[in-house]
Amino acid sequence: MPTDFTATRALFDLPEGVIYLDGNSLGPLPRAVPARLQQAATAEWGQMLITGWNKAGWMELPTKIGDRIARLIGAEAGHVVLGDTLSIKVYQALASSLEMNPDRRVILSDTGNFPSDLYMAEGLCRTLGPEYSLKTVAPEDVMDAIDDSVAVLMITEVDYRTGRRHDMAALTAKAHSVGALAVWDLAHSAGATDVDVAGGKADFAVGCTYKYLNSGPGGPAFIYVAPRHAETARPALSGWMGHEKPFAFDLDYRPGAGIERMRVGTPPVLQLAALDAALDVWDGVEIADLRARSIDLCEAFIEQVEAACPMLELATPRDAAMRGSQVSFRHPEGYAIMQALIARGVIGDFRAPDILRFGFTPLYIGLDEVAGAVKILAEIMETGAWDRPEYKTRARVT
Ligand SMILES: *Cc1c(COP(=O)(O)O)cnc(C)c1O
Repeated sequence: MPTDFTATRALFDLPEGVIYLDGNSLGPLPRAVPARLQQAATAEWGQMLITGWNKAGWMELPTKIGDRIARLIGAEAGHVVLGDTLSIKVYQALASSLEMNPDRRVILSDTGNFPSDLYMAEGLCRTLGPEYSLKTVAPEDVMDAIDDSVAVLMITEVDYRTGRRHDMAALTAKAHSVGALAVWDLAHSAGATDVDVAGGKADFAVGCTYKYLNSGPGGPAFIYVAPRHAETARPALSGWMGHEKPFAFDLDYRPGAGIERMRVGTPPVLQLAALDAALDVWDGVEIADLRARSIDLCEAFIEQVEAACPMLELATPRDAAMRGSQVSFRHPEGYAIMQALIARGVIGDFRAPDILRFGFTPLYIGLDEVAGAVKILAEIMETGAWDRPEYKTRARVT
């Protein structure tokens, strides 16, 4: 049965009068989440107290929810776990990869990657010693830069600014052919596009849940370890929750079985409860339908903006196969234009230096919202309504 996107939309609580094109940064609130949070807080934490770890199954949440996410990213069940933030999971995946490839010293990434991934890689290299380095090349040069000096390739599949999408299977195959491992960051892919970590032969994959998976601000990240590495990868951050027997309180660390070892400390139970409820939205969703609908929405937006606003320059690849589920346009006054849009209820975001970014999320956005957003954008551009001092003061979070 084809996915019913009218039905999924009814599962979200969106404010009246808002066109929300920022689910790529922070997904909106699924209607089922507050009741689940209430239950986790009062019936579980409140009444069960510490017995909730066993009685309410808090301890299993990271892997139980991992299996739900596995379906969305093409992973084998039992190989995804939740916990920590994405930056931490990037660090773990990189450190594990370097340990598995001890004769090599180079992490290869691209200049379109999200800065936190690059910062974590730099920090890791500094800890490991001066012979380790992070090398970055332009996104289109990654394939040619994969050579036998590379220990691990670290790529974010969909570029957070431009929406450009890398070819996971092709880059991973090249990495493997020269003896390198591949870590994929799915922050802008999981829940946004068709992802196939098993088919693409990723060694590790990581991603966050507060973007397209709607877990709410500060929701935990996930990590996938390919089954072939499950019993050999060392988790780098060897916290007690990843220990073979956390409650034996042994003095030495022994990694837990398979994906369990990628856990670090106590899981964020309330955030996991929110995520679990948020994932119910996906139960009737076929990823192929999601992708087809996302392409329709993005194409319609590009076509309508280009017709109405010739002063905006498309920053996203025109070929749908080359992009994720967002569309970006460049304009030197991008920040002020976005503030003017937000003031009129069209919420996207701005990324320095000049990118207006719009995320398209078929679960709750349709062609009517696309047309509505373009109409308001066109008005702002025609009238110069963005050109006001209050739209030019930068807030702490942009
Ligand atoms: C959003 C995002 C992050 C954020 O990391 P946190 O540790 O969850 O704050 C990291 N990497 C990429 C590629 C992202 O898109």
